[in-house]
Amino acid sequence: MDTNQSETPAPEVIAHGLRRIRLRRWILWVVLIIYLPTMWLAQQVTRSFHGALPVFFAWVLLLIIATAWSAAVRCPRCGNYYHVNGMMLLYLRRCLHCQLPLTADREKN
Ligand SMILES: [Zn+2]
Repeated sequence: MDTNQSETPAPEVIAHGLRRIRLRRWILWVVLIIYLPTMWLAQQVTRSFHGALPVFFAWVLLLIIATAWSAAVRCPRCGNYYHVNGMMLLYLRRCLHCQLPLTADREKN
């Protein structure tokens, strides 16, 4: 049985997939942004850089998880990893394989 892989999925499937990609990108951004206020707060509380180290390592762990989670998201159109091509991890606003834009479900054309 021959299944056509190049066939474009239904718009609601694309929209659902893109929403998931945007959510994971957003979470990665949040993790990156909380670094400075979190480290500042940790140093205020512990009164030393050394005391804030556990917080730093917890943040690094969180960053690794958020990066892996956002990298593992698949493109709803071509089924490949949206941000990964070979050994490359790139956070572009389009799929690295089929060029599906991140906001394709919002564009009316
Ligand atoms: Zn794709």
